[in-house]
Amino acid sequence: HAKQAGRNTYRFFAEEMNAQAIERLELESRLRQAIERDEFVLHYQPQQSLVDRRIVGVEALIRWRNADGEMMQPADFIPIAEDSGLIVPIGNWVLREACRQARAWLDAGHPCIVAVNLSARQFRGDELVDAVIGALVLADLDARWLELELTESLLLQDAETTLETLRRLKAIGIRLAIDDFGTGYSSLAYLKRFDVDKLKIDQSFVRDLLSDPDDAAIVHAIIEMAHSMQLKTIAEGVETQALADRLRLFHCDEAQGYWFARPLPAAEIGDFLRRHAEPGQLPGS
Ligand code: C2E
Ligand code: MG
Ligand code: MG
Ligand code: MG
Repeated sequence: HAKQAGRNTYRFFAEEMNAQAIERLELESRLRQAIERDEFVLHYQPQQSLVDRRIVGVEALIRWRNADGEMMQPADFIPIAEDSGLIVPIGNWVLREACRQARAWLDAGHPCIVAVNLSARQFRGDELVDAVIGALVLADLDARWLELELTESLLLQDAETTLETLRRLKAIGIRLAIDDFGTGYSSLAYLKRFDVDKLKIDQSFVRDLLSDPDDAAIVHAIIEMAHSMQLKTIAEGVETQALADRLRLFHCDEAQGYWFARPLPAAEIGDFLRRHAEPGQLPGS
């Protein structure tokens, strides 16, 4: 009986794994089609100065309006795009679309830096710099309007070629930010080696800032260290005014989060930029 049960369990797992593998392959082929069918959309989330409350930039966040009309979030498809390599063409589309939109806001009189997320996979090979330059040229956009968000794990992989790629991007005039700072295998040595402009303090440290003294200490230390290295800081996941106030007290430069605005379609960002062009206004209130 035991043997029989074991065999059944095995069969159950095999079928289960098979079903998962098939689902994954299907998703992959739908993702491939999504590029051709132009089903991706960028939403943008404002980044606000905690000093004068101006909108200093927006982060481009991808969504996928699939064939069934569902709006898929990055967590549902970015991991598979990364595994399959499809993140390279998708990422190139994101770069072109973000630059085109930055140009449109510039032309409309609302200059705004656009931050784009990059996956480690996009750093393999040597096409990234060409893709970035291509997107800027196509949009006729100066590099200073583009910021690239990198993760710590990305900086750890094959350090020499990554360093060279980042050097070339910096030489063009592009800004670099480290995303989710503090959650990866942080090596502070990387802050010395890579010429980054900004640290994005991960939302996991920001969330309980007011109640957890350890989180408060970490956030405060990151801000102090960043400033002594001439880096800017932005806090992610700021959901309340009390958090924004505390971060301002800590001299954090900027904040991003639902308290100010959720990620919004480009058209709504245009309105947002119009309304908050003057310093002193507080979005969310
Ligand atoms: P991320 O770059 O750290 O982006 C911040 C995420 O936090 C976004 O989730 C955003 O919607 C969410 N968020 C913003 N404010 C708040 C808040 O106040 N509270 C909470 N709880 N969450 C907030 P989203 O849009 O689902 O993106 C998830 C991740 O997917 C991003 O994390 C980024 O790593 C990745 N991603 C998004 N777009 C792209 C892309 O174009 N390319 C690549 N390679 N990755 C992308
Ligand atoms: Mg990001
Ligand atoms: Mg982040
Ligand atoms: Mg992230």
